Amino acid sequence: MTVGSAPGPLAKGRPAPKVLLIDLDDTLYRAHQVADIVRQRIQEYMVQKLGICKDEVATKTTEFYLAYGTTLAGLVANGYHIDYDDWHEFVHQGALDYDTLLQPDPSLRDILCSIDIPKYILTNANRMHAECVLARLGLIDCFQGLFYFENVMELAASHGFDVSHGVLCKPNPRIYQLVAEQLGVGLSDVIFFDDSARNLASAHALGTTTVLVGNDKLSPGVDLAIPTLHDLPTAMPELLDQPGLVHEHHTSHGRTHEHHSASLALFAVPVAVAGAPAESRTSSGGIAVHVPAS
Ligand SMILES: [Mg+2]
Repeated sequence: MTVGSAPGPLAKGRPAPKVLLIDLDDTLYRAHQVADIVRQRIQEYMVQKLGICKDEVATKTTEFYLAYGTTLAGLVANGYHIDYDDWHEFVHQGALDYDTLLQPDPSLRDILCSIDIPKYILTNANRMHAECVLARLGLIDCFQGLFYFENVMELAASHGFDVSHGVLCKPNPRIYQLVAEQLGVGLSDVIFFDDSARNLASAHALGTTTVLVGNDKLSPGVDLAIPTLHDLPTAMPELLDQPGLVHEHHTSHGRTHEHHSASLALFAVPVAVAGAPAESRTSSGGIAVHVPAS
């Protein structure tokens, strides 16, 4: 695709980014029905499975979200014992008809394929939801890896976080530190895209460049605000003008991307190789980032 060559507003005086971290829901796509259904299912779960008074769930949902990052994190922090798989099945993949709610986004695919910088999803949702969304959008092989509830919690546990009494999620600064460490980059090497200014602000405080998606108003902790990721070619043309090109190949197994620049080799990315089990141990004993099947 043709893109402008003028540097965007983030190019001035900043080192070239090594990694793009991109949130999933309401950032990679926007479908208000998905958020509405998930919110309703969360409240149903609280009533049906946790016995919380129906009159209190709306208030508690908001309070927990604001205080702990997600309602789930708030519930766990307040002593509720929750089967995480059951929770995610109930509020996400068991409740969402992805084929109806979402549509493939080939134009965003073109944009992401034009950015020769490793791209990772960072979502508070679970693996199955992330994979269903990415598959439906046609974007799953645009990313070098995914950070989601399960592998973030595993990563947290391996670094001493008490996952039996707490959930590590955005906007807790620790999640950004662990993800950057896992990717072998500094937080100042990362550009982070999210629809939540709050999520961005805590990463920004650690030195990360931040882009608010879905809102064109700058706020503290936000370096740039864009309506959608489709605006990247005009808002951040420097991202699409990297020297190495990503070439898309059609093979008998489907489309794959091949990075022809050496950027991926410049730092250790402890990811599992394609085709390996979703989560596996690296040779050094670290936790592998899940690589989506393409
Ligand atoms: Mg989001």
